[in-house]
Amino acid sequence: MFEEKGNKKSKEKDNRSNLLVVDDDSEVRGLMRQVLEAEGTYDIIEAEDGIDALEKLEQNTFDMVISDVKMPNMDGIELLKEIRKTSPDLPVIIATAYGGDMGPKALSLGADDFLYLPFRIEEFKFRVERVLGYSKLLKVRETLEKENKELWGRAITDKLTGLFNRQYFEEIFSGEFERSKRYRSHLGCVMLDIDLFKEVNDQYGHLVGDVVLKELGVIISDTLRRADLAVRYGGEEFVILLPETTREGIALVADRLRNKVEEFKFCSESKLQGKKMRQVTISLGASYYPDSRWKTEKDFLQAADEKLYLAKEKGRNRLELAWNNNES
Ligand code: GH3
Ligand code: MG
Ligand code: MG
Repeated sequence: MFEEKGNKKSKEKDNRSNLLVVDDDSEVRGLMRQVLEAEGTYDIIEAEDGIDALEKLEQNTFDMVISDVKMPNMDGIELLKEIRKTSPDLPVIIATAYGGDMGPKALSLGADDFLYLPFRIEEFKFRVERVLGYSKLLKVRETLEKENKELWGRAITDKLTGLFNRQYFEEIFSGEFERSKRYRSHLGCVMLDIDLFKEVNDQYGHLVGDVVLKELGVIISDTLRRADLAVRYGGEEFVILLPETTREGIALVADRLRNKVEEFKFCSESKLQGKKMRQVTISLGASYYPDSRWKTEKDFLQAADEKLYLAKEKGRNRLELAWNNNES
Protein backbone atom coordinates (compact mmCIF):
# COMPACT_ATOMS: atom_id res chain seq x y z
CA MET A 1 0.00 0.00 0.00
CA PHE A 2 1.19 3.49 -0.75
CA GLU A 3 1.10 4.83 2.79
CA GLU A 4 3.06 1.91 4.22
CA LYS A 5 5.99 2.63 2.00
CA GLY A 6 5.55 6.32 2.81
CA ASN A 7 5.56 5.54 6.47
CA LYS A 8 8.90 3.78 6.33
CA LYS A 9 10.54 6.41 4.23
CA SER A 10 9.25 9.38 6.18
CA LYS A 11 10.75 7.90 9.36
CA GLU A 12 14.09 7.55 7.63
CA LYS A 13 13.84 11.14 6.50
CA ASP A 14 13.50 12.40 10.04
CA ASN A 15 10.08 13.96 10.02
CA ARG A 16 10.18 15.37 6.51
CA SER A 17 6.96 14.77 4.60
CA ASN A 18 6.65 13.77 0.97
CA LEU A 19 3.68 15.42 -0.72
CA LEU A 20 2.17 14.75 -4.13
CA VAL A 21 0.58 17.84 -5.67
CA VAL A 22 -1.80 17.00 -8.54
CA ASP A 23 -3.17 19.75 -10.82
CA ASP A 24 -3.33 20.25 -14.58
CA ASP A 25 -2.64 23.96 -14.04
CA SER A 26 1.11 24.32 -13.66
CA GLU A 27 0.67 27.75 -12.07
CA VAL A 28 -1.42 26.35 -9.20
CA ARG A 29 1.06 23.50 -8.73
CA GLY A 30 3.94 25.95 -8.73
CA LEU A 31 2.28 28.18 -6.15
CA MET A 32 1.52 25.23 -3.87
CA ARG A 33 5.10 24.02 -4.20
CA GLN A 34 6.42 27.49 -3.39
CA VAL A 35 4.24 27.88 -0.28
CA LEU A 36 5.00 24.41 1.05
CA GLU A 37 8.72 24.41 0.30
CA ALA A 38 9.04 27.66 2.21
CA GLU A 39 8.01 25.72 5.34
CA GLY A 40 11.25 23.72 5.06
CA THR A 41 9.83 20.32 6.02
CA TYR A 42 8.04 19.25 2.84
CA ASP A 43 9.36 17.56 -0.29
CA ILE A 44 7.08 18.08 -3.27
CA ILE A 45 6.49 15.96 -6.35
CA GLU A 46 4.04 17.20 -9.00
CA ALA A 47 1.60 15.31 -11.23
CA GLU A 48 -0.56 16.83 -13.96
CA ASP A 49 -3.58 14.52 -13.78
CA GLY A 50 -4.95 11.40 -12.07
CA ILE A 51 -3.14 8.92 -14.32
CA ASP A 52 0.18 10.70 -13.81
CA ALA A 53 -0.51 10.77 -10.05
CA LEU A 54 -1.17 7.01 -9.87
CA GLU A 55 2.10 6.33 -11.68
CA LYS A 56 3.96 8.53 -9.23
CA LEU A 57 2.25 6.86 -6.30
CA GLU A 58 3.54 3.53 -7.61
CA GLN A 59 7.09 4.82 -7.96
CA ASN A 60 7.40 6.91 -4.79
CA THR A 61 6.26 6.96 -1.23
CA PHE A 62 4.04 9.77 -0.01
CA ASP A 63 2.65 11.12 3.24
CA MET A 64 -0.14 13.06 1.55
CA VAL A 65 -1.82 13.81 -1.79
CA ILE A 66 -3.26 17.23 -2.62
CA SER A 67 -5.37 17.04 -5.77
CA ASP A 68 -7.41 19.29 -8.00
CA VAL A 69 -10.77 17.92 -9.20
CA LYS A 70 -11.14 18.97 -12.83
CA MET A 71 -8.30 17.49 -14.86
CA PRO A 72 -8.02 15.70 -18.23
CA ASN A 73 -7.62 11.87 -18.43
CA MET A 74 -8.52 11.16 -14.81
CA ASP A 75 -10.10 13.73 -12.53
CA GLY A 76 -9.44 14.20 -8.80
CA ILE A 77 -12.54 12.32 -7.66
CA GLU A 78 -11.60 9.25 -9.72
CA LEU A 79 -8.06 9.52 -8.37
CA LEU A 80 -9.41 9.67 -4.81
CA LYS A 81 -11.48 6.53 -5.41
CA GLU A 82 -8.45 4.70 -6.83
CA ILE A 83 -6.31 5.70 -3.85
CA ARG A 84 -8.93 4.58 -1.37
CA LYS A 85 -9.05 1.11 -2.95
CA THR A 86 -5.49 0.36 -1.90
CA SER A 87 -4.59 2.97 0.70
CA PRO A 88 -7.42 3.78 3.11
CA ASP A 89 -5.08 5.72 5.39
CA LEU A 90 -3.13 7.88 2.94
CA PRO A 91 -4.21 11.48 3.65
CA VAL A 92 -5.84 13.22 0.66
CA ILE A 93 -6.86 16.88 0.40
CA ILE A 94 -9.09 17.80 -2.52
CA ALA A 95 -8.50 21.31 -3.84
CA THR A 96 -11.30 22.46 -6.09
CA ALA A 97 -12.48 25.55 -7.91
CA TYR A 98 -15.99 24.06 -8.18
CA GLY A 99 -17.15 25.33 -4.81
CA GLY A 100 -20.65 24.40 -3.75
CA ASP A 101 -21.09 20.73 -2.95
CA MET A 102 -17.76 19.45 -4.25
CA GLY A 103 -15.97 19.77 -0.88
CA PRO A 104 -18.51 17.73 1.12
CA LYS A 105 -18.76 15.25 -1.76
CA ALA A 106 -14.99 14.70 -1.63
CA LEU A 107 -15.22 14.16 2.14
CA SER A 108 -17.97 11.60 1.69
CA LEU A 109 -15.75 9.71 -0.74
CA GLY A 110 -12.94 9.50 1.77
CA ALA A 111 -10.97 12.73 1.39
CA ASP A 112 -9.49 13.98 4.65
CA ASP A 113 -10.15 17.64 3.90
CA PHE A 114 -10.92 20.04 1.06
CA LEU A 115 -9.86 23.48 -0.03
CA TYR A 116 -11.55 25.89 -2.39
CA LEU A 117 -9.46 27.50 -5.11
CA PRO A 118 -8.10 30.10 -5.39
CA PHE A 119 -6.72 29.28 -1.96
CA ARG A 120 -5.59 31.56 0.82
CA ILE A 121 -2.00 30.77 1.72
CA GLU A 122 -2.45 30.64 5.51
CA GLU A 123 -5.52 28.44 5.23
CA PHE A 124 -3.76 26.10 2.80
CA LYS A 125 -0.75 25.68 5.10
CA PHE A 126 -2.99 25.16 8.11
CA ARG A 127 -5.08 22.44 6.44
CA VAL A 128 -2.03 20.56 5.17
CA GLU A 129 -0.39 20.68 8.60
CA ARG A 130 -3.53 19.64 10.43
CA VAL A 131 -4.29 16.65 8.20
CA LEU A 132 -0.66 15.48 8.31
CA GLY A 133 -0.50 15.92 12.08
CA TYR A 134 -3.65 13.91 12.58
CA SER A 135 -2.43 11.15 10.29
CA LYS A 136 0.87 10.93 12.22
CA LEU A 137 -1.03 10.80 15.50
CA LEU A 138 -3.11 7.90 14.19
CA LYS A 139 0.03 6.01 13.17
CA VAL A 140 1.59 6.54 16.60
CA ARG A 141 -1.60 5.35 18.28
CA GLU A 142 -1.78 2.28 16.06
CA THR A 143 1.83 1.38 16.88
CA LEU A 144 1.25 1.87 20.61
CA GLU A 145 -1.89 -0.26 20.56
CA LYS A 146 -0.03 -3.04 18.76
CA GLU A 147 2.88 -2.88 21.21
CA ASN A 148 0.51 -2.86 24.17
CA LYS A 149 -1.26 -5.92 22.86
CA GLU A 150 2.04 -7.74 22.38
CA LEU A 151 3.24 -6.78 25.87
CA TRP A 152 -0.02 -7.90 27.43
CA GLY A 153 0.14 -11.18 25.50
CA ARG A 154 3.67 -11.82 26.74
CA ALA A 155 2.76 -10.94 30.33
CA ILE A 156 0.01 -13.53 30.55
CA THR A 157 1.59 -16.33 28.51
CA ASP A 158 3.87 -19.13 29.63
CA LYS A 159 6.87 -18.95 27.32
CA LEU A 160 7.62 -22.67 27.09
CA THR A 161 4.13 -24.05 26.46
CA GLY A 162 2.29 -21.06 25.01
CA LEU A 163 -0.52 -21.62 27.52
CA PHE A 164 -1.60 -18.96 30.01
CA ASN A 165 0.62 -18.47 33.05
CA ARG A 166 -0.27 -18.71 36.70
CA GLN A 167 -0.35 -14.94 37.11
CA TYR A 168 -3.14 -14.67 34.59
CA PHE A 169 -4.98 -17.57 36.20
CA GLU A 170 -4.88 -15.83 39.59
CA GLU A 171 -6.35 -12.74 37.94
CA ILE A 172 -9.33 -14.40 36.33
CA PHE A 173 -10.06 -17.40 38.52
CA SER A 174 -12.14 -15.65 41.18
CA GLY A 175 -14.13 -13.86 38.44
CA GLU A 176 -14.98 -17.16 36.75
CA PHE A 177 -15.95 -18.66 40.11
CA GLU A 178 -18.16 -15.68 41.00
CA ARG A 179 -19.85 -15.81 37.62
CA SER A 180 -20.65 -19.49 38.08
CA LYS A 181 -21.89 -18.82 41.61
CA ARG A 182 -24.16 -15.95 40.58
CA TYR A 183 -25.67 -17.54 37.48
CA ARG A 184 -25.39 -21.12 38.71
CA SER A 185 -23.60 -21.97 35.49
CA HIS A 186 -21.48 -25.12 35.27
CA LEU A 187 -17.77 -24.71 35.84
CA GLY A 188 -15.13 -27.44 35.76
CA CYS A 189 -11.65 -27.36 37.20
CA VAL A 190 -9.06 -29.97 36.23
CA MET A 191 -5.58 -30.15 37.75
CA LEU A 192 -3.05 -32.39 36.10
CA ASP A 193 0.54 -33.30 36.64
CA ILE A 194 3.05 -35.32 34.62
CA ASP A 195 3.78 -38.69 36.19
CA LEU A 196 7.34 -39.33 37.36
CA PHE A 197 8.58 -36.34 35.41
CA LYS A 198 11.71 -36.17 37.49
CA GLU A 199 12.68 -39.53 36.00
CA VAL A 200 12.22 -38.13 32.47
CA ASN A 201 14.62 -35.32 33.30
CA ASP A 202 17.06 -37.65 35.01
CA GLN A 203 16.99 -40.17 32.20
CA TYR A 204 17.11 -37.86 29.14
CA GLY A 205 18.11 -34.46 30.47
CA HIS A 206 16.24 -31.20 30.99
CA LEU A 207 16.05 -30.34 27.29
CA VAL A 208 13.99 -33.44 26.59
CA GLY A 209 11.89 -32.61 29.66
CA ASP A 210 11.22 -29.18 28.16
CA VAL A 211 10.17 -30.72 24.84
CA VAL A 212 7.72 -32.97 26.68
CA LEU A 213 6.21 -29.94 28.45
CA LYS A 214 5.92 -28.09 25.16
CA GLU A 215 4.27 -31.02 23.39
CA LEU A 216 1.91 -31.54 26.30
CA GLY A 217 0.93 -27.85 25.98
CA VAL A 218 -0.04 -28.48 22.35
CA ILE A 219 -2.03 -31.62 23.22
CA ILE A 220 -3.91 -29.69 25.92
CA SER A 221 -4.81 -26.76 23.66
CA ASP A 222 -5.81 -29.11 20.83
CA THR A 223 -8.14 -30.99 23.15
CA LEU A 224 -9.96 -27.95 24.54
CA ARG A 225 -12.62 -25.64 23.15
CA ARG A 226 -11.94 -21.96 22.62
CA ALA A 227 -13.89 -20.97 25.72
CA ASP A 228 -11.79 -23.25 27.95
CA LEU A 229 -8.73 -21.93 29.68
CA ALA A 230 -5.50 -23.87 30.05
CA VAL A 231 -2.78 -22.70 32.41
CA ARG A 232 0.71 -23.87 33.22
CA TYR A 233 0.29 -23.64 36.96
CA GLY A 234 3.73 -24.77 38.06
CA GLY A 235 6.70 -26.70 36.67
CA GLU A 236 4.87 -29.75 35.30
CA GLU A 237 1.47 -29.01 36.74
CA PHE A 238 -1.45 -27.60 34.74
CA VAL A 239 -4.91 -26.26 35.51
CA ILE A 240 -7.80 -26.27 33.09
CA LEU A 241 -10.99 -24.28 33.61
CA LEU A 242 -14.02 -25.51 31.70
CA PRO A 243 -16.85 -22.96 31.67
CA GLU A 244 -20.39 -24.12 30.88
CA THR A 245 -19.38 -27.77 31.22
CA THR A 246 -21.38 -30.41 33.11
CA ARG A 247 -19.81 -33.06 35.36
CA GLU A 248 -20.16 -35.54 32.55
CA GLY A 249 -18.43 -33.18 30.11
CA ILE A 250 -15.59 -32.47 32.53
CA ALA A 251 -14.90 -36.19 33.04
CA LEU A 252 -15.04 -36.75 29.29
CA VAL A 253 -12.55 -33.98 28.44
CA ALA A 254 -10.18 -34.94 31.25
CA ASP A 255 -10.15 -38.61 30.35
CA ARG A 256 -9.76 -37.84 26.65
CA LEU A 257 -6.70 -35.79 27.56
CA ARG A 258 -5.28 -38.57 29.74
CA ASN A 259 -5.79 -41.00 26.90
CA LYS A 260 -4.21 -38.75 24.26
CA VAL A 261 -1.11 -38.26 26.40
CA GLU A 262 -0.81 -41.98 27.05
CA GLU A 263 -0.86 -42.66 23.31
CA PHE A 264 1.34 -39.79 22.19
CA LYS A 265 4.93 -40.46 21.13
CA PHE A 266 6.76 -37.62 22.85
CA CYS A 267 10.00 -36.07 21.67
CA SER A 268 11.53 -36.65 18.24
CA GLU A 269 14.56 -38.93 18.08
CA SER A 270 17.21 -36.27 17.40
CA LYS A 271 17.07 -35.04 20.99
CA LEU A 272 17.19 -38.54 22.45
CA GLN A 273 20.66 -39.45 21.16
CA GLY A 274 19.76 -43.03 20.38
CA LYS A 275 17.78 -43.66 23.56
CA LYS A 276 14.26 -45.00 23.31
CA MET A 277 11.70 -42.57 24.73
CA ARG A 278 9.69 -43.84 27.67
CA GLN A 279 5.94 -43.55 27.85
CA VAL A 280 4.72 -40.31 29.37
CA THR A 281 1.47 -40.23 31.33
CA ILE A 282 -0.45 -37.70 33.40
CA SER A 283 -2.62 -37.89 36.49
CA LEU A 284 -5.66 -35.69 36.86
CA GLY A 285 -8.08 -34.49 39.52
CA ALA A 286 -11.34 -32.73 38.67
CA SER A 287 -13.84 -30.65 40.63
CA TYR A 288 -17.17 -29.17 39.64
CA TYR A 289 -19.08 -26.06 40.60
CA PRO A 290 -21.78 -25.27 41.82
CA ASP A 291 -21.17 -27.60 44.75
CA SER A 292 -22.19 -26.52 48.26
CA ARG A 293 -18.97 -27.98 49.66
CA TRP A 294 -16.83 -25.29 47.96
CA LYS A 295 -17.40 -21.92 49.61
CA THR A 296 -14.58 -20.12 47.84
CA GLU A 297 -12.57 -20.54 44.65
CA LYS A 298 -9.71 -21.83 46.81
CA ASP A 299 -11.87 -24.72 48.07
CA PHE A 300 -12.83 -25.46 44.47
CA LEU A 301 -9.21 -25.55 43.28
CA GLN A 302 -8.07 -27.49 46.32
CA ALA A 303 -10.72 -30.13 45.68
CA ALA A 304 -9.21 -30.78 42.23
CA ASP A 305 -5.72 -30.75 43.71
CA GLU A 306 -6.63 -33.31 46.39
CA LYS A 307 -8.11 -35.59 43.75
CA LEU A 308 -4.93 -35.23 41.69
CA TYR A 309 -2.92 -36.50 44.63
CA LEU A 310 -5.39 -39.32 45.14
CA ALA A 311 -4.80 -40.27 41.48
CA LYS A 312 -1.04 -40.35 42.16
CA GLU A 313 -1.58 -42.50 45.24
CA LYS A 314 -3.78 -44.90 43.34
CA GLY A 315 -1.02 -45.61 40.84
CA ARG A 316 -0.91 -42.62 38.39
CA ASN A 317 -2.14 -42.33 34.77
CA ARG A 318 -5.68 -41.92 36.04
CA LEU A 319 -8.44 -39.43 36.67
CA GLU A 320 -10.14 -38.88 40.02
CA LEU A 321 -13.35 -36.90 40.35
CA ALA A 322 -14.46 -34.77 43.30
CA TRP A 323 -18.02 -36.05 42.96
CA ASN A 324 -19.69 -39.43 42.96
CA ASN A 325 -20.26 -41.05 39.64
CA ASN A 326 -23.99 -41.22 40.28
CA GLU A 327 -24.01 -37.39 40.45
CA SER A 328 -22.97 -36.97 36.84
P1 GH3 B 1 4.87 -37.51 40.34
O1 GH3 B 1 4.36 -38.57 39.46
O2 GH3 B 1 4.62 -37.81 41.77
O3 GH3 B 1 4.34 -36.17 39.97
O4 GH3 B 1 6.43 -37.49 40.18
P2 GH3 B 1 7.33 -36.36 39.55
O5 GH3 B 1 8.69 -36.89 39.35
O6 GH3 B 1 6.68 -35.80 38.35
O7 GH3 B 1 7.24 -35.25 40.66
P3 GH3 B 1 8.29 -34.30 41.30
O8 GH3 B 1 7.46 -33.15 41.84
O9 GH3 B 1 9.17 -35.04 42.25
O10 GH3 B 1 9.17 -33.78 40.11
C1 GH3 B 1 8.78 -32.77 39.29
C2 GH3 B 1 9.89 -32.56 38.29
O11 GH3 B 1 9.52 -31.60 37.31
C3 GH3 B 1 11.13 -32.02 38.95
C4 GH3 B 1 11.50 -30.82 38.12
O12 GH3 B 1 12.87 -30.79 37.80
C5 GH3 B 1 10.70 -30.99 36.86
N1 GH3 B 1 10.39 -29.71 36.24
C6 GH3 B 1 9.66 -28.71 36.72
N2 GH3 B 1 9.64 -27.68 35.83
C7 GH3 B 1 10.37 -28.07 34.76
C8 GH3 B 1 10.73 -27.45 33.53
O13 GH3 B 1 10.36 -26.30 33.20
N3 GH3 B 1 11.49 -28.15 32.65
C9 GH3 B 1 11.92 -29.43 32.95
N4 GH3 B 1 12.66 -30.05 32.06
N5 GH3 B 1 11.61 -30.00 34.11
C10 GH3 B 1 10.85 -29.37 35.02
MG1 MG C 1 4.81 -34.92 38.41
MG1 MG D 1 4.54 -31.80 40.45
